[in-house]
Parts: sequence; structure tokens; C-alpha cells
Amino acid sequence: MRLLLILFIFSFFANPLLAAVDIAPRGKQPARIQDVYQQGGVPYIAIEDVLGAVGLTGHWNSIKHIFRIRSPRGWAEISPASSYLKLGENYYPLQEKPRFIDGRLRVTDNFVLNQLPMLVGKPIYFRNNDPDADTVVEEKPSGIEQLFSFLLNKKSKQSGPLIRAVAIDPGHGGLDTGVIAESGFKEKEVNLKVAQKLAKQIKMKLGIPIYLSRDGDYELNLEQRLKPASQEDVDIWLLLHAEASMSSDVHGVTLFIRPDEKSHVKDKGAEAEPSDNVSRKLADQLATALRQAGIVVNGIYESSLLSLGRGSLPTVQVELGFLSHPEELAELRDEEYQEKLAQALYRGIHDYAELKKEKL
Ligand SMILES: [Zn+2]
Repeated sequence: MRLLLILFIFSFFANPLLAAVDIAPRGKQPARIQDVYQQGGVPYIAIEDVLGAVGLTGHWNSIKHIFRIRSPRGWAEISPASSYLKLGENYYPLQEKPRFIDGRLRVTDNFVLNQLPMLVGKPIYFRNNDPDADTVVEEKPSGIEQLFSFLLNKKSKQSGPLIRAVAIDPGHGGLDTGVIAESGFKEKEVNLKVAQKLAKQIKMKLGIPIYLSRDGDYELNLEQRLKPASQEDVDIWLLLHAEASMSSDVHGVTLFIRPDEKSHVKDKGAEAEPSDNVSRKLADQLATALRQAGIVVNGIYESSLLSLGRGSLPTVQVELGFLSHPEELAELRDEEYQEKLAQALYRGIHDYAELKKEKL
């Protein structure tokens, strides 16, 4: 029982970090769906998940390229090629076309709020738990409420984050293992895992392109290493690494940025900070988000090894932890901790984007 309570409390606090929606016929226990992709301020949810939450079924017809829904009102059809829902002989307009994202056909919150009640024959409870989404709509709004939520929706779509794309470099790969722990665990593995999890967070919540220097365990030459960061639309470059120390006591995340000619000493005081150092601003947001997630951050340091790349491109090398620290090593190998790191880094990127937005 106590365990259940702890789990409940944990999930209560953990949930705001996830892109998740709750869907149910009114009066029923909502189903939580976490496989949600945020694109242009709109959440896209897999149609199977939406139907499952309200007790309906459907299937994809790959020959006709349509998704058929069995409803109490008869067969309904949607298709990525059409902005209509077909029910019997009637066509109902959809605000957004269904889209294939990450291998699944997805509909938006507008479908859930406007077309789904018609198919189910009952009002639908819908809640978007994603803190990045500006709208939380409960039950079906009507009249002035509907107009209001429409205006909110519009606003959230126009004020997207000012980050066009993110480049991520998971350090090392292939024969280049990076640091090796006593147990044989290799740095290249955790770098890639966190990079992939972070890429998924950004893709799901911001819907912007992610360029990974590698997506598997292979070696890169310098050109391949730098290619993602040289893409024209990249506004953030993160390099992921892990480290080791002679002392098994040292642990935590350490952030590195390029040396700035204008700032001579790091961590000396607020007045020494140049206001236009974008990398430091990004690193500050990352450090804050990591600390808020309960992760130890050792600090932000300047590294001359990080002189590559565009000077104006916000660039941070994140040392995810120490493979020489037994407990931290166990954490870095753990999928849940990798996810926690990825979510905190995502939060830092998000907050940096918000900061940029406020500037304009
Ligand atoms: Zn490394």
C-alpha cells in the first residue's frame, strides 16, 4: 500500500514532464496516452490510441490508403490525403489532416473534441497534460468558451519556439569507445542512448528537425561529426559525452562552452558575464533544468577544445556523468535515468527557446 502511494505521488510529480493526453467518454476513467507528437503547437495522437480510449476499434487499409473506424453510427473513414471525415455518405471537415508520424497515423486534439463525440455518440473528456501546450480543454467547450479556446489555439500556433532545428552529437562511436568503466561499460553507449531519447523529446514536443551525427555504433570522421551542426537551420548544438575521474567520489553533470574572449574568468560573478554569450545562456538553462530534475550539476566551464563550429551557434558540451563513480555508473546504464537526463535537457532547450521568444 505504501508502495502504491509512493508510486502515485511519483507519477503525480513526474507527469507534468511528459507529453501526455487523457481521453475518455464523459464519466469514465480517462486513459492516459503518452505517445503524443507536438507539431506546430498541435498535439498529434495515434488514431488507434484515441479509439482505444473510448472503446472503438479501427484498422488501416494499406491498399485504399484509408483508416476505417467502426462506430455505433456505422463505418467512418479518415485518410492522410483528406481533410474530411467520411461517415456513411456524409463528409465532415477536419481542422488538420491526419498525419503519419513515427510510423502511426495520427489525429489532433481537434478531432478528439469535434469528430470523436459524434462517432461515440457521447461528450468526450479531453485533457492535454503537456505543459508546453498552451491550451487545456476539458469537456467539450461551447459558445463563448469555444471561441475563447479557438483564440488560444491560434495564439499558441503563432508563437512557436524560436528554435528551427537542433543538432546533437553523441560523442565517439565504433572503435572509438570513449571512456570505459571498470565494468566494461563504454561511454559511446550512454552518449547515444541519451541523444536518441533527447531527439525523441524534441521531435515529440517541438516538432522541429533533429540532426544526429550518428544514430548507431560506428566511427565518424571529423566532417561527419560536424555535418549536423553545419546545417543552415540549426539553432542549437549539443555534444554529449561522459567522463571518468581518478577519484571514485567525483560525480554529476558538467557543462562546457567555448571560451569567450570578452569574459576572462568563469563563475566569477554575474557582472563578468557578457550579455551576448548565447552558449552560456543555453548552458545556464540546461543547468537549471538539470538541477530542478534533482541531478547534480558541477558547473559551467570554458573549454578551448570546443572552438570548432560557428561562434554564434549556441553550443554546449554536456558531460552526462562519471563512469568512475559506481552509483552514477549504475544510473547512466539505466534507461529510466537516461530518460530523466534527456527530459531535463529537453526542458533546458525549451526554456532557452522561451527566453529567446521574450527577447523579441
Ligand atoms: Zn567523450
